[in-house]
Amino acid sequence: MPNLPEMRKHLENMLSPELLSLLRTVARRSSELDLPLYLVGGGVRDLLLGHPATDIDLVVEGDAIQLAYALTKKNGGRVIAHTRFGTVQWFLPESLSASTIGFRVLDLTSARSEMYKRPAALPTVQLGNLADDLRRRDFSINALALRLDGSHFGELHDEVGGLDDLQDRLLRVLHPLSFIDDPTRLFRLIRYEKRYGFRIAAGTLTLIPEALPGINLLSAERVRHELDLVMEEENAAAILEHMALLGILTAVHPLLDWNDAIRTRFENAQLPAPGLDSHPSRVLLGWSLWLMSVPKTWLESINQRLHFDAHTRDVLSGTSTLFADCQSLSGKKPSQVVAALDVIPLAAVWPVFRALPLGPVRQSLADYLETWRHVKPKTDGDDLKSKGLPPGPSYQIILGTLRDAWLDGKIKTAEEEKILLEKLLRRNGQPAATKSTRS
Ligand code: ATP
Repeated sequence: MPNLPEMRKHLENMLSPELLSLLRTVARRSSELDLPLYLVGGGVRDLLLGHPATDIDLVVEGDAIQLAYALTKKNGGRVIAHTRFGTVQWFLPESLSASTIGFRVLDLTSARSEMYKRPAALPTVQLGNLADDLRRRDFSINALALRLDGSHFGELHDEVGGLDDLQDRLLRVLHPLSFIDDPTRLFRLIRYEKRYGFRIAAGTLTLIPEALPGINLLSAERVRHELDLVMEEENAAAILEHMALLGILTAVHPLLDWNDAIRTRFENAQLPAPGLDSHPSRVLLGWSLWLMSVPKTWLESINQRLHFDAHTRDVLSGTSTLFADCQSLSGKKPSQVVAALDVIPLAAVWPVFRALPLGPVRQSLADYLETWRHVKPKTDGDDLKSKGLPPGPSYQIILGTLRDAWLDGKIKTAEEEKILLEKLLRRNGQPAATKSTRS
């Protein structure tokens, strides 16, 4: 175990000066109130692994709400307290340079113990000490605490052998009923396994099969949240693949599958796509890549279990439709590609583009996303009106024909568009124009 001066130095090196100063401020107030204060969970794990701590969870042995009010009194900001759970959020004042820390709210929790009355139900919470609080956690590597107040600054608290496991790169639950109590830990386990490249302890691995039926007891929101977190990960494909192997995915829904074709789509999504590599939502991209080859009727059944929001449902249905039919775009003219893609939600075209291997269809989708979808004729409805064309379906036909002509390279200049427009108007029974179109 690193000694105290080493740990203090490590903390000071790893935390940004702004974050360190914020933690020292909280620690000062907690010392004044005689309340031991700890950094716990993922933040400690990541600091010890030498990663920047992105998650700052603070536990107070005593009343966290009292501490948060003391902080607002001396330092400003405001508090939202959840008295029943002994948790509190401190919305930081500007003076603590929240913008440079990267977050504006600090979570403080009173140390507690938890009891699971039923498998997969939310636990009953009771105030406790630090040891209770660490023993309620999912894995030993997430059950480490660093004390922050006063002369204790940098003291490592390891109730369950988390440090050894961190050094041995081992994921271990804290008791045999852990997955039964809370089956979301099955998802968390594989997420950490692939994120850090850790091994799962043999004793933990053997607990998985008997815990799988418990996944059925989890609400749609809790399962979806865990899978959303998977989609956020760099190694989402490897995580899903191992979950499938362990039976976790089919325990969520029998149609949730994994195969080589899905893996290939995730690999294709890593191909360089200059200018087109920023996807609006990583989570939605992950879901789409995964479920792209699932027929729509099956998607509906999966949705019954996971309750996707309306936008996600639209995107998944759009990707499924487009992916099933996208090879038919091969060899099509740009105007035909645009006609086919304009009826699909744009958010569904992106993932299909990312899923495809290099080739003409991927290129057509790239052209659509980058250029073709923005192509518009210079003429608009007002121009047609000023030429005396009575409003009606012919507007759409004429403007569409002009757009297609631009897309397919039949016209390349404003002058050529004007000539084509006159021809179309004549065909439509309109006299040749007197006023010119806008250019
Ligand atoms: P990540 O980097 O994935 O966010 P994290 O460890 O910060 O990891 P959080 O979900 O923010 O994860 O949870 C914070 C801490 O709360 C965890 O480190 C763990 O100690 C505890 N925890 C979270 N979920 C559970 C759970 N289902 N069962 C027990 N403890 C949990």
